[in-house]
Amino acid sequence: MSKRKSSKSRKKNQPTIANNHRPLKHNEQDELLRQRQWVKLFAEVTFKIRQSLNFKEILRATVTEVQRILQADRVLIYQVFLDGTGRAITEAVLPDYPPILDLEFPEEVFPTEYQQLYAKGRVRAIADVRDRQAGLSDCLIEFVDQFNIKAKMIVPILQNLNSHQQNESSSSNQLWGLLIAHHCDRPYQWLDFELELMQQLADQIGIALSQAQFLEHLEEIVEVRTAELQEVNRNLQQEINDRMQAEAALRRSEEQLRLITNALPVLIAYVDDHQCYRFNNKAYEDWLGQVPADIYGSNIKTVWGNNCYQRMQVYVNLALLGQAVTYENEILLKDGLPCSVNVTYIPHLDEQQNVKGFFALTTDISDRKAIERMKDEFIAVVSHELRTPLTSMHSALKILATGRLGTLSKDGQQMLEIADDNTERLVRLVNNVLDLQRIESGEVKMEKQICNVSTLMIQATEAMQPMAQQHGVVLVVNQIDIEIFVDSDYIVQALTNLISNAIKFSSSDSTVWLSAENTPNAEVLFSVCDEGQGIPSDKLESIFERFQQVDSSDSRRKGGTGLGLTICRKIVEQHEGKIWVESTLGKGSTFSFTLPLLN
Ligand code: ADP
Repeated sequence: MSKRKSSKSRKKNQPTIANNHRPLKHNEQDELLRQRQWVKLFAEVTFKIRQSLNFKEILRATVTEVQRILQADRVLIYQVFLDGTGRAITEAVLPDYPPILDLEFPEEVFPTEYQQLYAKGRVRAIADVRDRQAGLSDCLIEFVDQFNIKAKMIVPILQNLNSHQQNESSSSNQLWGLLIAHHCDRPYQWLDFELELMQQLADQIGIALSQAQFLEHLEEIVEVRTAELQEVNRNLQQEINDRMQAEAALRRSEEQLRLITNALPVLIAYVDDHQCYRFNNKAYEDWLGQVPADIYGSNIKTVWGNNCYQRMQVYVNLALLGQAVTYENEILLKDGLPCSVNVTYIPHLDEQQNVKGFFALTTDISDRKAIERMKDEFIAVVSHELRTPLTSMHSALKILATGRLGTLSKDGQQMLEIADDNTERLVRLVNNVLDLQRIESGEVKMEKQICNVSTLMIQATEAMQPMAQQHGVVLVVNQIDIEIFVDSDYIVQALTNLISNAIKFSSSDSTVWLSAENTPNAEVLFSVCDEGQGIPSDKLESIFERFQQVDSSDSRRKGGTGLGLTICRKIVEQHEGKIWVESTLGKGSTFSFTLPLLN
């Protein structure tokens, strides 16, 4: 205590900030020196205070430094709360005096009007709290007595509320707290520099407060951003994992796909909408001698060569228009040998039904083709060998039927007619088989020339008129005068086949119509319409296949062979036309076919 007192008494004799023992002279040099020392001291204090970014440490450093420089008995920072109460939150006090730290001050000792004055920046330096001129109320004097306060200085700490906002014009100050210094052993006349120091430090605290808030605000932003980034990172990581898993699954399924497709003895490929290969199996290498890596990304034309591509082109285009197609083609294998293949293209459509490419499946049908050729040759030879004796048998029976070689009994005559009928049927069958075989094998070429449609219709009806009369059927023709480019013999053959069927399957006194008309698709549409027995709906397609009849007894009863419609279809297809039938059971049928106008 005595030690402190001695330092205290020393302090009381120092009228200025300069803590030297030189008496103050009122000349300019002294004033300059005093100011320099003041600036230095303030810089030092500010530096110490601002060394930390931690606001609490700043407050602690402030009270310690102020207490040290002013040699006050107590320096504290009092925080003002919104409800008017407050609390000393930091304090530097000599051990002789009671601490105020953490004491809650009631509102009476710090009324609202005081707060308002401090908020406007009021500074109070009271040399003697008991001096009536100081204007302290009795209750406040009583309060300050508890803490031995004899002289006090109060400087407001103002907080800039919007300090962290860009727009400074919107900033406003609010009383945050007070920087308070006490002398407790006796009244004390505060010096100007002490006042100034306190004010400057209170300002510094205000700035630090704003910075702390700004820091807090920044930390909040950083925290939110960090959380956001972590979330994004987690999602990204998840996405990467998902993608890696998907890629692994894709690789596995690709390997499996390769394993399966490579094991199959067929060509399997995927071609994109630019006609480039995007997938092909190993058979390509075995058949064409081209490694998959060479084929990948290559154009179909490059892979197959110009000649082969020309035969494929129309089907490729159809597949890229979204149509599934199957066709037969001849390709050359890597050893130069020809190979017959069956090719199927299946379009690949996306969700919007746009064609993205097509899947191509090519199978070797050389063996089947060879067997077909052998069968055709066999049929051709057999039919040809049959035709000659049959024709002579037919002629012999006809001569016998005339009776020129002797009269037969009634039964004998009947047997002769049966033999004649059946021989005639057999001749027809053999002729049909031979016709079909010749057309299918491509042995005959359609000899196309410009023909008048009505001429063809007349030729066909004239040929069929005797049969119509025999069956009591009226034949009506609606001719039109158009020219088409066809093989007239074959078209007349197709028409007579259809008319003969229409007559065959009609009852007497009914009518058969033959008509032709132009269609909007630059085609001629031929129709043969009857009022006959009609065809069941499930047979409308199959009757165009070989030996297919609605009723198997038809061949016997009507003398049919089941090949007429097959031949018609072949003839029409050779002219790039289409044939079909529409029918109502018991009401009649209409057979129609189209032929392109120009070919
Ligand atoms: P077919 O020599 O037996 O007439 P087609 O190939 O010409 O052979 O005809 C096949 C079958 O189609 C016939 O047997 C018959 O059952 C049916 N058919 C063909 N045309 C008609 C028609 N106009 N009315 C009813 N059925 C028909």
